[in-house]
Formats: sequence, structure tokens, C-alpha cells
Amino acid sequence: MNNKEENHDELIRATAADGMIKMAVVSAKNMVQRAREIHNTTPTASAALGRTLCAASLLGNAMKEENATLTIRVAGDGPVAGVVAVSDSAGFVRGYVGNPAVDLPLRADGKLDVGRAVGRNGNFTVSRDIGLKEPYIGSTELVSGEIAEDLTAYLTESEQVPSACALGVLVDKDTSIKAAGGFLVQLMPGAEETLISTLEENIFMMDQLTTILDEDGAGEVFAQVLKGIEYHIVSREEVGYRCFCSRERAEEAIVCIDRKDLEDMIRDGKDIEVGCQFCDAKYVFTPEDLRRLAESAE
Ligand code: ZN
Repeated sequence: MNNKEENHDELIRATAADGMIKMAVVSAKNMVQRAREIHNTTPTASAALGRTLCAASLLGNAMKEENATLTIRVAGDGPVAGVVAVSDSAGFVRGYVGNPAVDLPLRADGKLDVGRAVGRNGNFTVSRDIGLKEPYIGSTELVSGEIAEDLTAYLTESEQVPSACALGVLVDKDTSIKAAGGFLVQLMPGAEETLISTLEENIFMMDQLTTILDEDGAGEVFAQVLKGIEYHIVSREEVGYRCFCSRERAEEAIVCIDRKDLEDMIRDGKDIEVGCQFCDAKYVFTPEDLRRLAESAE
């Protein structure tokens, strides 16, 4: 199964060892490429944002409530100045970084230095909005800023589910995204030690995640992580980059502007452009539009 030529991303779930293991793999080349185009990110920023988008898709797709939203905020002291990724309950994501132009030298091993870009001394925060009054928020301290380690620590400490994961973004020479994706393995209570050690060994021995995704596709990720363990695929769903902004939402934001500032904007007589944080949409409002909005808010 080679997903190299496919033009959509997929999130695939499997159960293994009679339900003791749950595993999900997301192939995310297109969503990360879309994020790169929208935000014009450098390779390091593409990797930081891309890994976080993959994490959000993996967790978001696991939510059972329809119309739920999951937000990951990675706030470290590094030059990328924060990463935000939001997923709906199907695993479609959107996101941004504080500084898309962050440029750092490669690490000694030739990899993009996401850890330094994100930094430490901060938090990895997951907030789930399932339509109740308050969202459910959990947070742990950043471990390395490499995202996958931070997500694992979050799931183990905050949600108390023993987990292993990897997230990867492979950037091509022309700075486009060659491959991207991630996997998350979670153990149910009561899993045997031998099962855990088999998993650990498989993950230690497996090929580089982005190489597998680039050359063989998501199916091979399951085959390598669950080597020697009986598993079957339970679902296969399309995911991608999706923004829910609209002119109506931009209008709502304008109505919230301080009354005096809005009057000043109307008096200036210039068009106002409201850009979406998550995508390349721009909504233009004429002074007449602003006046109408100001009046409707009275
Ligand atoms: Zn948008």
C-alpha cells in the first residue's frame, strides 16, 4: 500500500492483542503542505506546526461527541513563539505558529531542531470543548519541545493512559512537505509485560516514521509497530486541513470591537481587512459595512 500518489490524508485505527492495544496512524502530508502554504512557514516551523497538527488529528478523531473541538497549545520559550492546533471530532485540523519565519540550524543528526524552536519552560495543554459550559483542560510541563515526547508525557501524566507515539514531518529540498504523519499506541489496563516489551522493542527497531510513510504508506507503520502481535484495522477515515471561518464570524469579531475604536474606523473612511488566523481567507469591510454592523449591535 503506497500512499505517495494519494491526494488526501487518512486516519486509520486498529485494535491489537484482543483489544489490549489501540493504535491509530495518521498520514498527513497534504494537511501539513496546506498549513505550510497558508502560513509560509520555514522548514523548522513547518515541522513544529505539522507535528502538532498530527497530534491534534489523532486526539480529535478519538472524540466521541459530534461537533466537539480539541485544541492543543504548545507554549515554550523558543523562537517559534507558540504552536496552536485545533481539530474537530473527525480529525480535520487547522493551526498556526507564533513566528512562521523561525530559522534554526539543523541538529547534529541532520534533523530539524523543533525542540529548540519550541523551547521549554512552558506547557503542553489540551482543551476539549464538547459543548458543555466549560471545556475540559489538561496540561503538563514541556519535556523537550519535540511534540511527540510532550504528547506522550501529557497522555501518561494528565490522562493516565500509558501511550507511545511518534510524529514526523519530512521537508523536501524545495521546502515543500515530502511526508508527514504520526502514530499513537495506547495500552488498556491489564496489558501483560511481554506485550509491553514487544511493543517497546518494535518501536525501538522500526524505520524512521516519515521514511515509512513516504515509501510504503500507513499500512507499513502498523506492520512494524505491531510486529508479532495480532491486529486488525477497524476504521479508515479521510482527514485534512479545514478551516471553519466565514464572513459572518468576521462580522461577529467586528461587533466585539470597542465602540469608540469602531467609530474611529468608520470615520477614517477606509476599507478594513479581517484576516483569518487559521487560513488565507481575508474578509473586506467597507466603512458602510462597518456602520451597518455598528448599528445592528446597538
Ligand atoms: Zn479561516
